[in-house]
Amino acid sequence: MPVLEIRNLGIESGRYAPSIYIGSKQARLLIDFGKISGNAPSVPNLNRLPCELSETDAIFITHLHKDHFGGLGFAFSNDYHGEVYLGPESYRILSNWLGTKIKSGIPKSSLRELKIMEGLCVGDLTITPYSSNHTFDSVMYLIQSQKTNILVTGDLGNEVGALQHIWASFPSIDCLVFDGTLAFLPTEDPTETLENEFVEVVSQALRHMYTVVLPMQKISSWKLIELVIMTAERCGFEIDIMYDQSLEIFSSPLFNLDTEMVPMKGTEGIDWFQNPRICFVPVWEADKLLKSNSLQRTLFVYTTYVVGRNKNRVEEIIGTFGSLENIDFYNPAPKVIQIPISNHIGRISMERLLETLKPKTAIPVFSTHHGRLQEFKKWWSEHIQYTELFFFEDSEGIVVLEENT
Ligand SMILES: [Zn+2]
Repeated sequence: MPVLEIRNLGIESGRYAPSIYIGSKQARLLIDFGKISGNAPSVPNLNRLPCELSETDAIFITHLHKDHFGGLGFAFSNDYHGEVYLGPESYRILSNWLGTKIKSGIPKSSLRELKIMEGLCVGDLTITPYSSNHTFDSVMYLIQSQKTNILVTGDLGNEVGALQHIWASFPSIDCLVFDGTLAFLPTEDPTETLENEFVEVVSQALRHMYTVVLPMQKISSWKLIELVIMTAERCGFEIDIMYDQSLEIFSSPLFNLDTEMVPMKGTEGIDWFQNPRICFVPVWEADKLLKSNSLQRTLFVYTTYVVGRNKNRVEEIIGTFGSLENIDFYNPAPKVIQIPISNHIGRISMERLLETLKPKTAIPVFSTHHGRLQEFKKWWSEHIQYTELFFFEDSEGIVVLEENT
C-alpha cells in the first residue's frame, strides 16, 4: 500500500524553482514555493499537483532566497489559504517586511514561526526543521509518517563538521531529497561561512573611508541587507539615502530585483563618492562605474548567491577567497571583491552525507546537469553504496514509497 507520494513541481524546460510536494493519507505539504525571474518556470507548475492548491495543508519554506519562497504571492492569488512555515529568523524578517513596505500578496497572518528541531504535526505527518547551513537561517525538513522518513534538505551547506552531528541524530531515512546544485561538478565548493568575512570586509572599507558599492544580483538575500545595515551602524554611519530608495524594491510584486531594485532616477545628480557610504546599485550600474576608471576609494562588493552554475564560477570564488584578507585598504584605488554568501554541498561532503544517512533512495534537486549526467551516475555508482539514485526527471516527478514492514 503506497503511503507517501513525492512530486517535484519546480522543473520546467530545464529551469528550476524548488517546490516539492509530499502527500500522505491525511496531509498534503509543499516544501518551498520558489520563483525564478525571467524565463520559465516563473512559478511552480500546479498541474503537477495531484490536488488543487487550495487543498494543500501547508507550505514549509527552507530559506529566504527568491527561488525558494518567491512564488508565495502566486500561491495566495491561486486560492492557497493555508499556513506558511519558516525558520525563526526568516519568520521575523518576512513578518517585518510584510508589516511595512511589501505588497507581495502574502497575508502576514499566514506566517508561522518554526522552532529548530521541534516537530510539528500536519495530519499524519510530523515535520521537524533542522539547520541546513546553506545560508542565513536556512533549514531542512525531516518529514515522518508512522513508518517512513523523508529528508528534504532544500539548499544544503557544505560544512560537514557543522552538519554531521545532525545527520547522525536522524532516524533511518527512506528517501533523501537533496541539494544537487553541485552534484554535477567534480570540484568541491568552498567550505567557509562567509557572513563574518563579509561584515569584516565592509567594516574595514568603511573605516578606511571607502564607499562600498553593492551591486545587487537577481536573487536577493535579506540577510545581506541586514548585514550591511548592521555593519554600517556599528561603524557609526548613517544609512544612506540610496539605501532608503533601494527599499522600494520590496514594494514591487515578488521582488524582481534585477529590474526594479533601485529607481534609476534617484541616482542622477548624486555624488555618490564624495563621502564614504554604502550604495545598493543595479549590477549594470556598478559595471558602468567600474569601467569609468575615475573612482578612488571605492569598494565594489559583488555577492554570488548561486555557487556552481558553472565550473568557472566555482574556481573564481575559490580564487577570490585567498585574496579577501589581503585587501590593501591603504591604497586608494578602487577595488573589486566577490563574496559568495551562501554555499552548497559538494561531492566530498555529499559522499559523507550519504554514508551517514544510508537512505534507500536519494533524489538530487538541481537546475542544470551541465551535460554531465552520465559522469555523475558513474561517480555515484563508484562512491555511493546502499542508495538508489533517482531523478524526478525520469518519472515526471512522482515517487511512491511502499510502507515499511
Ligand atoms: Zn539558496
